Amino acid sequence: RIRLNQAAGRVLAENIHAPTALPRTALATMDGFAAARADLGGQLPIVGSAMAGQPYTDKLASGQTVRIATGAVVPEGADCVIPIEQAQEQQGRVGLATDTADNIRQPGEELAAGAVAVAAGTALGSRQLGLLAALGIDRVPVYPRLRIGLLATGDELRSPGQTLVPGSIYESNRLLLAALLCELGFAALDLGIAADDRHDLEAALERAHAQCDVIVTSGGASVGSRDLIRQMLIERGSIRMWKVAMKPGRPFIAGNYRGRPVYGLPGNPVSAYACLLLLVVPALWKGSGHDPIPTWPRLSAQAGQTIIKKPGRADYQRGLASTNPDGSWQVVAVADQSSASLTGLVAANCLIELAPESDGVEAGAPVAIIPLPGTFPYFLAKASSSALS
Ligand code: AMP
Ligand code: MG
Repeated sequence: RIRLNQAAGRVLAENIHAPTALPRTALATMDGFAAARADLGGQLPIVGSAMAGQPYTDKLASGQTVRIATGAVVPEGADCVIPIEQAQEQQGRVGLATDTADNIRQPGEELAAGAVAVAAGTALGSRQLGLLAALGIDRVPVYPRLRIGLLATGDELRSPGQTLVPGSIYESNRLLLAALLCELGFAALDLGIAADDRHDLEAALERAHAQCDVIVTSGGASVGSRDLIRQMLIERGSIRMWKVAMKPGRPFIAGNYRGRPVYGLPGNPVSAYACLLLLVVPALWKGSGHDPIPTWPRLSAQAGQTIIKKPGRADYQRGLASTNPDGSWQVVAVADQSSASLTGLVAANCLIELAPESDGVEAGAPVAIIPLPGTFPYFLAKASSSALS
C-alpha cells in the first residue's frame, strides 16, 4: 500500500471501488442562474448565490433563482442552470430563457458509489491517478516492483571509463538494456560483468539469485566453447527453450537458475535489444501483475523501398518510419542492418517485421512496423512538421 503520489507506473493489485458517487452532489457546469424548469420564462427574484465551495444552504422556493458558478452545488429546488448569456438581469431580478440542456452534472453520473473505478492489473498512469485523486483516494495497493538483474558476460568487456587492453571493447549492453527497461517503466539492477569462466559466472549468478526476481544475461548464449550460460543453466537449473527463428536474436535462452527465471540474451547489442523488447518484456509485464498480457502493437506502413530478406527466420529489420501528409506511415530500412551495429539502431525508430516465410516486400506494399520505445516525440514532431508545410 503506497501513497498515490508515489504510485505512477506501479501496477494496481486490487480493484479500487468509488468510495462515494462521482460527483457526490449535483454540480453546475456553467456560470449562470439555478432555477426550477417550471419557472423559466418569467422574471425571477435573485435570492442568493452558490459559488464553488460556498453552497447556497437554503432550499430554493418556487419562483426563485440564485446566481451560480461552474462547480457550485445546485441548490435543492433547482433542476436546471441557465447560462449567464441567456439571462437578462435588472434590479435584483432576472429573466431566464428556456434552455433544453440542464447544465448540471448529476450525482453519480460519472461513477456510482461502489463501482469499480480502476481495475486490478492496471498500470497507474496520469489518467488513472487523476481519477483516483478525484475520488479522494490517497493510498493504493500495488504489486511489488520486479527486481530485474542485468548481467553482462564476456572476457573482452570493460566498463566505459576503464582503460582498454588489446582485444577488449567497451561494454554497452547493461546500459542499453537498463535504459530500455527504464523507458518501459521497469527498474533494473546492475549485476556487473562476468568473465567467460565457470567460477566467475557461477558467483555472479549466485549474487543475482540472492538479489533478483528475474535474471537477464547478455552474451555467452551461443554454441562456442566459451558460451557458458546454457551450460550453467543445464547444470544448476533448466532450459525451457533455446534458439528462436528470428533475426536478429537467434541464440536466445529462456530457463532458470536454481528456480530463478533467467533470460539469456545474445551478446550482439542489437540482438540483445530486440530479444529483450520482443520476447522478455511481455513476460516482465506479466510478472509485474499486468492483466491482460500486452503484446507490442504493430502499425501498418507503406514500404518506401523494396526490402529483401531470406526466407527462414522472422526479420526485425531496423527501420526509419515517417508520416505522410495524410497521416499514414511510410518506412525505409536503415542501411546498417548488422546485429552488432548500435549505429544502425540509433538511425532507426522502429522495427520492420517480416514473417519467417517472407522473402521481402516490394516498394509501395504494406508492412508491419513496431515503433521503438522513446521514439514517439520524434514521430509527433514529424507529423506536425508535415502538417505545416
Ligand atoms: P556472444 O553472444 O558472447 O558470442 O557475443 C557476441 C558479440 O557481442 C561479440 O562480438 C561480443 O564482443 C559482443 N558483446 C557481447 N556482450 C557485449 C556487451 N555487454 N557489450 C557490447 N558488446 C558485447
Ligand atoms: Mg561472449
